[in-house]
Amino acid sequence: MTVDSSRVAPLPQAFDLSLVVPCHNEEKNVHAFFERVKDVFDGSGVSYEIVYVNDGSSDGTMAQLRSLISEDAGAHALRAIGFSRNFGKESAIFCGMKESQGSCVCLIDADLQQDPALAFSMYQYLMEHEECDVVAAYQETRRENKVQAWLKRRFYRTFNVASDEIEMPENMSDFRVFRRTVADALVSMPEYYRFSKGLFAWVGFNTHAVPYTPDERLAGESSWSTRKLFKYAFSGIIAFTTWPLKVAKYIGFVSSLVATLYLLYVLIVDYLIMGIAIPGYPTLVCLVLLFGGLQLLVLGVMGDYQARSYIEQKRRPLYIVKERYDTRG
Ligand code: UDP
Ligand code: MG
Repeated sequence: MTVDSSRVAPLPQAFDLSLVVPCHNEEKNVHAFFERVKDVFDGSGVSYEIVYVNDGSSDGTMAQLRSLISEDAGAHALRAIGFSRNFGKESAIFCGMKESQGSCVCLIDADLQQDPALAFSMYQYLMEHEECDVVAAYQETRRENKVQAWLKRRFYRTFNVASDEIEMPENMSDFRVFRRTVADALVSMPEYYRFSKGLFAWVGFNTHAVPYTPDERLAGESSWSTRKLFKYAFSGIIAFTTWPLKVAKYIGFVSSLVATLYLLYVLIVDYLIMGIAIPGYPTLVCLVLLFGGLQLLVLGVMGDYQARSYIEQKRRPLYIVKERYDTRG
């Protein structure tokens, strides 16, 4: 399938901007977020809609969204889409991009760590620069501890070395404003395991980066534990490079070479020349364990890829919508 990204005759869209807001347990934030967006955007001349995607929250997020929509009584274009369970932020973003109707899309979190005022200036930048397709915010100062920051840096380095195809800039967040053509390109990639930072790099387009410092979360807790982050990082590497699969070849080659040289050394030098009877048990045990371990590791990596392709080829939907509410009826 090809994606036509020509800007010659863009289809008229219903709004200038769609704010796509993934929400997982954000009951205390949805109203505050809306107030802040109103402060920034109302009266600015930019027509906008907000697409809230409730990603299977276990708190009262959906009830809050419903009350928000009924209180607003159609004064703004608000939509809430509720998933049947928690499908993950990537699925929520995908759904929001697909369902949104603006000429531009802004991905922004519900917890007000990402300032709607900055979203507005990112949108303005996009409008003033025709050659630019994506304005992405990158974290200038990180809030996490040193270990997490170090791990993240290692991840980006590994990813970029491993991937021949794309270069993923460090510290770039999902907080972005981009044109409909970019959203269409992203939505045209139906892969089940999604890794937005990689997908944005893969689709290309001219990207302008602006620095930002995330604010403190307004209420609630971050959904990302270190375990979840690790899983997400491995998932990203596996989604964008087959390099770990090929590593087996090199490990195998180097280890057999070393083993052969060692064997020759022992036989020729130790046994034939020096006449030493070789007490080899410890060495043998170590070698058997080492290579047994390596083989299992390599098998495990191959298993990961196999499992991926198994899940991908089922072509299951990325999310299931349980309910929707719309201020426009
Ligand atoms: N989120 C989501 N589904 C999830 C986890 C998070 O939709 O499974 C949303 C969450 O409600 C928030 C955004 O994704 O709007 C970012 O999540 P969070 O604030 O937990 O991440 P952090 O800011 O700590 O990276
Ligand atoms: Mg957050």
